[in-house]
Amino acid sequence: MMTSLYSIRMRATCHGQHLAGAERIVPKAAVGDVTAALTARAMHCSNGEVDEIHCSVERIDRATVCYKSLPDLSTYQVNSWQEGRQLAICLLAKAGVQEDIAERAVPLLAKGAGPGGAVMRGAVIMESSTGKRFEEDQTRGVRVSRMDLSPECRPALKSDLTSAGLGHHRILEALVLAGKVLGAPGIVAELCWSDDPDYTIGYVADPQAGYQRISDMKLSGDSRGGRIFFVDQAKTSLAELVEYLERQVVLFNTPGVISTAQEWIPADE
Ligand code: AMP
Repeated sequence: MMTSLYSIRMRATCHGQHLAGAERIVPKAAVGDVTAALTARAMHCSNGEVDEIHCSVERIDRATVCYKSLPDLSTYQVNSWQEGRQLAICLLAKAGVQEDIAERAVPLLAKGAGPGGAVMRGAVIMESSTGKRFEEDQTRGVRVSRMDLSPECRPALKSDLTSAGLGHHRILEALVLAGKVLGAPGIVAELCWSDDPDYTIGYVADPQAGYQRISDMKLSGDSRGGRIFFVDQAKTSLAELVEYLERQVVLFNTPGVISTAQEWIPADE
């Protein structure tokens, strides 16, 4: 009999504010160790002292698991965050987002896409040719959940990333999240940079070019960031998209190609 799989989700807060979150999908025998590791990570979080940690453990019906390959990873080295944002607009336009929508989307994340300029807990869903937003709750947005690497793929990917100097768990987790997003119905591209004031790297991902890291997307010390999923409304419904992003279990069983960093030269130089 095949061993059962469990989804583990950890969320930590400080004064009711989101502090840290992580999730895994693991075989039954690993549930205890992985839950302890995620809890320890929240306890050692550098951006505040934890008030509450919530861990949920949920058995998964193996018949519902969708297996996929991870996207390829590339890195663009830019000279400044202004250049990084300019590059992000170019990559989004290349992916099929209308250029004026990409030009409006970048400042939206920069000022905070939630009500009153707050950082959202989840992502914006934006129509790629009109800029219309679809999230029902603009404080929460849409949270991508229930995805991980298969137990066989995890060590292979970790080793590939470490050899490329990309061994931090943040990169692996963002790649897995982007991998799930790129398989969503109607998806055109994703734009992301972190709200962590010490982490200035961001990315643009799209189904053809994969996960494209950009070395600078904001000034160090800036605690605003977020995610935007650009979709073609003609190819999906909001209900189908949110069901896939939040509930469909996806396990990645094949790593993508990891390329060395390349310098980006803006077209007008
Ligand atoms: P992070 O890369 O974890 O710093 O997250 C950057 C931003 O992405 C956050 O401020 C949220 O707006 C958004 N975000 C984080 N986790 C998720 C998720 N699981 N699904 C959708 N959006 C997320």
